[in-house]
Amino acid sequence: MTIWPTQAGADGFYGNPRGRNGGPSWLWEVKSLVHLTPPFAMHYGGQPVSSFRIHRACAASLGRVLAAIHDAAGRDQATLDAWGVSTFGGSYNFRLKRNSNTLSMHAYGCALDLAPERFPMGRSKPTFCAPVLKAFADEGWVNLEHDRMHFQAARL
Ligand SMILES: [Zn+2]
Repeated sequence: MTIWPTQAGADGFYGNPRGRNGGPSWLWEVKSLVHLTPPFAMHYGGQPVSSFRIHRACAASLGRVLAAIHDAAGRDQATLDAWGVSTFGGSYNFRLKRNSNTLSMHAYGCALDLAPERFPMGRSKPTFCAPVLKAFADEGWVNLEHDRMHFQAARL
């Protein structure tokens, strides 16, 4: 299993995603991001999500996480829907952390949000069910204590 960098070490591990004028670096995006196709149906705002962008350094790991969740659910879409994992909430997104001047892990393409309506920011409960948490934990992904929708391939 890969030992993910700390958040402070994200630049060294994932590269610097900052462009020249405070926005994202187009060159970094091209070099760093890949499209991951989830093994089950996902949707965002009612639209299907056939793939999403994630950093190449953690894409295979996230693919294994999603495959493990798929299997744990018996490859049953209704179960995946009930678990909340089919509701995409965002992956790569160049932005700052809330109330902070530091970049979100989403800006490095190493974070995934799932079912934000069900697991809103600022709350420690509810949490995803045990099979989902185990699949992420087995790959070293961190679920934030007060942002349960959020999983990241970076240590706190
Ligand atoms: Zn997030």
